[in-house]
Amino acid sequence: MFCKGRGALHVSSLQFEIGEIRSRLPAVAAYVYAFADGSSGMRDVLGGKGAELAEMTSIGLPVPDGFTVTTEACRAYLAAGGTWPEGLNDQVSQHLAGLEERCGRRLGDPDDPLLVSVRSGSPVSMPGMMDTILNLGLNPRSVEGLARSSGNERFAADSYRRFVQMYANVVLGVHGDLFEEAIARSKQTRGVKADVELDAAALRELAEEFLAISRAETGREFPEDPREQLDGAIQAVFASWNTPRARTYRRHEGISDDLGTAVNIMQMVFGNLGDDSATGVVFTRDPSTGERVLYGEFLVNAQGEDVVAGIRTPHPIAEMQQDFPDGYRELEQAMTTLESHYRDLQDVEFTIERGDFYVLQTRAGKRTAQAAVRVVRDLVSEGVIAQDEAVQRVNAAQLDQLMHPAIDPGAEYEVLATGLNASPGAAVGRAVFDADTAEARGRAGEPVILVRWETTPDDIHGVIQAQGVLTAHGGMTSHAAVVARGMGKPCVCGVESLRIDAGARRFSVNGTTISEGDEISIDGSRGLVISGAVPLVPPQMTDDFAAVTAWADEARRLGVRANADTPEDARRAREFGAQGIGLCRTEHMFFGDERLPVMREMILARDEEGRRAALDRLLPFQQSDFEGILEAMEGEPVTIRLLDPPLHEFLPDLEDVDPSDERLRSRIKSLREVNPMLGTRGCRLGILHPEIYEMQVRAIVRAALAVEGSRAEIMHPLVAFATELRRMRDLTERVIEEEGGGKLDILIGTMIEVPRAALLADRIAPYADFMSFGTNDLTQTTLAFSRDDAEGKFLAQYLEDDVLSRNPFETLDDGVRALIERTVESARGVKPGIKLGICGEHGGDPDSVEFCNSVGLDYVSCSPFRVPTARLAAAQAELAHR
Ligand code: ADP
Ligand code: MG
Ligand code: MG
Repeated sequence: MFCKGRGALHVSSLQFEIGEIRSRLPAVAAYVYAFADGSSGMRDVLGGKGAELAEMTSIGLPVPDGFTVTTEACRAYLAAGGTWPEGLNDQVSQHLAGLEERCGRRLGDPDDPLLVSVRSGSPVSMPGMMDTILNLGLNPRSVEGLARSSGNERFAADSYRRFVQMYANVVLGVHGDLFEEAIARSKQTRGVKADVELDAAALRELAEEFLAISRAETGREFPEDPREQLDGAIQAVFASWNTPRARTYRRHEGISDDLGTAVNIMQMVFGNLGDDSATGVVFTRDPSTGERVLYGEFLVNAQGEDVVAGIRTPHPIAEMQQDFPDGYRELEQAMTTLESHYRDLQDVEFTIERGDFYVLQTRAGKRTAQAAVRVVRDLVSEGVIAQDEAVQRVNAAQLDQLMHPAIDPGAEYEVLATGLNASPGAAVGRAVFDADTAEARGRAGEPVILVRWETTPDDIHGVIQAQGVLTAHGGMTSHAAVVARGMGKPCVCGVESLRIDAGARRFSVNGTTISEGDEISIDGSRGLVISGAVPLVPPQMTDDFAAVTAWADEARRLGVRANADTPEDARRAREFGAQGIGLCRTEHMFFGDERLPVMREMILARDEEGRRAALDRLLPFQQSDFEGILEAMEGEPVTIRLLDPPLHEFLPDLEDVDPSDERLRSRIKSLREVNPMLGTRGCRLGILHPEIYEMQVRAIVRAALAVEGSRAEIMHPLVAFATELRRMRDLTERVIEEEGGGKLDILIGTMIEVPRAALLADRIAPYADFMSFGTNDLTQTTLAFSRDDAEGKFLAQYLEDDVLSRNPFETLDDGVRALIERTVESARGVKPGIKLGICGEHGGDPDSVEFCNSVGLDYVSCSPFRVPTARLAAAQAELAHR
């Protein structure tokens, strides 16, 4: 363990005493661990921060000494409605005594006080979500002691006012603005601009004023007793687990509400003792690109939270080499040690106190998807990790980020301003100036860019709904940057020339004014701010990405196909590694200026002959569409779904029809349905109007014959009864025969999207060469949710209130999973070799892909942009399964 200050006293005898005390205690849970007694493996108990502080202590890095109160203590405290569990108080006392002994100082001692920080840390990293209290142990007497022992009055006064401010805010619930306003007044009175220009006298006065504010707001004295301060802080950290912003973040990230947070109590080290002190955040590799360079920022004469809060704009880490050559060398060494120990990119907090270097935190660094693939690829070539481990390390869901659009290289635009390229990708949206507006407009489906001076954790709900984030302040490690990178949102930070007037809802920059609702574009890869909407181009696969997904292909069992309706989408799907098309919808082939009138003619025809005549004219269009798609897929299978939507979708709205057109009006009225989703659609159309499906099958066969080596598969939608599929199969086989397509071996199958078909799959399987779960409709029919109504009306509330934990249209619902399992079992029971896949949007959701792998499906099919994610997720599922 690492104690700064006077050095350890009687360590061994003290440890012995603690052992003695412990053995005499009744058997209660161990709620507290010294850093020296923990390790990485204890994340669940000590939280991420505490476990890694312990681990770093054990590998000899200079970590200030301390101890951790466990997540179990937090859970027990919260479960008991805010009472300390039996034994916790004594254990805190023992460990505090141990820390004081080792440091040779007493908490809040009037002469030479030990000060501590109280930091939260849950098992899963939640950056900026919980509040930390620094400089705990200060009171009117110990602040004098601190001034004497440090020989720096200004420092002592500043530490004290920071402590009162943080404690009153976080623990006592006093509004932070009251303190900020007092600081602003003090600066104004003294005619200074920056906090750092306030002298010791001014800071002492401020501390007094803060105490008065706290007294006035809470109606009681600010606690002076150090132990009382500590207990209050521990409780506040426990309680912070349930703040709205913490809950919002957990919901968004899918983190359980039951984990609880640990509390780390740690000796303070000071980066604000003068120009020989500093503090910073550094990554072992560039978290934006993955490049192997030390990457980060530092501030001279500052306390840790100054860097993260974006209050002063910090310096790039490389500049530290000049000002702190020794510290920089130690930093480099520590970073090397950390990377080789953790075998991954680390995000590290450090402080230099009067030339002495300390590590305050390490964790696996949040990184862009681009960096994520580069880092694992590099780690493999550096011989640090194996290929399969690389595949498992990349967050599959995060790969969607690489699928972000960029500004069209050919586009012309004027750059309004530049800032830091904090999170890559380009975004276009309307400027909004507060998180609530971003949330409201974003939810309503409007693309917005959240523009803030800087973001705080309280803005999180707005960030989630925004296309991108733009801030005037803060660096690459500011809150906005960290959160945006984690979510894969484009972000430009620190655009110093931005003049934001949030009250008036506008900003001006270099002579241009942008008001709320005006369209802007940002490029988070290059740090650009642009007025108006620029054209964007779809993403490309990078080399690193291609390499990692190729490794994934070696590991996976599940096939990955794409849902694509056009040759262009099909080509893109191939580029992203799709091994076929799992769903080619045909409805769009009936639209367009040339086709729609013919389609309407068909629908309005008085008899079958009339319908056939119209269909004959549609056939060549469809045939050439199919040829295009089959060509693009170069011999990979293409599953074509026959017409699915109800016919009224091809007719105009009644209001738009010429009142004299009686024929059209009455046809529209006759096709109108109370509930079209459950109406005349899918194979029901094929039963009622066999000539439509006949035409489609004919077009498919002719296209397949024209494109050599192509593999078409014909899929019948919305089958509920075996008889439906038997009749449609007969029709399909007859037309294939008529067209001379017998030798093509065209597979004939069905979608499973109705619970009846899933439950009785053994009856349907005899007529199906394959079954593909249409999980969008299957979710709707299983849950009796119409997707549009659910997402527009009640689903948000369901998720908010935890009635549902995940959106069932994104991740397969358990009920749907149960139906899929049942289908697999019963279909394979009668036809072991039947090919089974899924073709809903769930096919690109990593969680759902894992399920598909585990139930033994043959393939998943998803939108082209999610194909790489699905490839990786399929490999991860298989590797985890092995
Ligand atoms: P967060 O999870 O928001 O990063 P932390 O608990 O890491 O919160 O602390 C906030 C800031 O305070 C960080 O910059 C951290 O380095 C700093 N800090 C925490 N404990 C200490 C300490 N004992 N001495 C000096 N700085 C500290
Ligand atoms: Mg931290
Ligand atoms: Mg469907």
